[in-house]
Order: sequence, then structure tokens, then C-alpha cells
Amino acid sequence: MQSHDKTETAMSTTLAGAWQRCREFHGHSCPGLAIGVRACEAAGQRLGLSFATDEEVVCVSENDACGVDAVQVLTGCTVGKGNLLWRDRGKMAFTFFCRTSGGAIRLVFKKPLSAADMDRQALQSHILTAPLAELFDFKEPSYEAPSRARLLAAVVCRQCGESCTEQSARFQDGQTVCLDCLVDYERGWPK
Ligand SMILES: [Zn+2]
Ligand SMILES: [Zn+2]
Repeated sequence: MQSHDKTETAMSTTLAGAWQRCREFHGHSCPGLAIGVRACEAAGQRLGLSFATDEEVVCVSENDACGVDAVQVLTGCTVGKGNLLWRDRGKMAFTFFCRTSGGAIRLVFKKPLSAADMDRQALQSHILTAPLAELFDFKEPSYEAPSRARLLAAVVCRQCGESCTEQSARFQDGQTVCLDCLVDYERGWPK
């Protein structure tokens, strides 16, 4: 098993620096964060990405786990800028779109077969040092880059009086209501 120090030595200076910045932002180190760091490295290589100051890079994450924090630190895709989208599939997969070049790549993490025999530290070291092709399947996304974030018109909920965007408003008993005031109408099967 590799020690923590050995792992750091095996990493390039750039990768080690990226890992350090992500740990500071995330608050701890963990295998999930390591997956995010390597996914950003892979996307950077494949798409020639640089830090997204605006919305030229878009990331669609299929999970809301630790790795997403690395995406925010290393690619500039953030929830606030609207170029980090959560497409909940419960998969350790990230899709990156580059609006400038039109390039896109979907990275699906491949859990190592030996993961069952590894403790968290060993798994994290493996993720940080293994060749990218061993860690990810590289796929074509099945959809186009999502449209750019835009400012949405606001409406006032007639029940609680709070404003919400038109897109999140609903109509109930002839009135505009927010999602918090909407009474759920379930008929017994998943939507
Ligand atoms: Zn974590
Ligand atoms: Zn309301």
C-alpha cells in the first residue's frame, strides 16, 4: 500500500497543487474528491479547457457527491454562474462541454476491481496516481450543451407572498403558488 507521502511524490506538480486547493475548499480529503480532481484533469486534456471565467465551460454532474467540489475549484463551473448543472442519475459521471470549441466529453468513473481490498486511503492514492484511461470510460454525451443561464421573470406566490421564478411557480386553485405552497397530488406511482 502506498503511503500518503508517496502518493504526493507520484503526482505531477500541477496535479498535487490542484489536489491541495480542492482539499482546502472541500474541508477534507477523500476518494470522491480525488475522482473529481482526476475528472477535471481528464476533461482539461481532452477538451483543452482552461479555467472558465464565464460560461464557456459547462459541467453536468450526474451526482452531488464530494467530487463536484473539485469541479467548482478547478474548472470554474459553479452553481452560482449557472454552468454547473446537477443531472441526478446517481452515477459517478461528469460531462464537460466547451462552448468555444464545441467539444464535449462524458467521463464515467470505473471503480477498480481491487477496490474491495483497499481501504479508503489506498483507494484515494490509487485514484490520484492511476493513468486516466484506467480510471474513466470516455464517452460521447447523448445530448447537446444545455442552454446558457438566463435571468428568469419573478412572480409572487399568492399564498406565502414570496417571490419565485416563473419556471418554479405552479397553478393551484386558480392561483399562482410557489413549490413550498403546492399541495402534492400523488396518485401512487413514480413520475
Ligand atoms: Zn469528501
Ligand atoms: Zn408560497
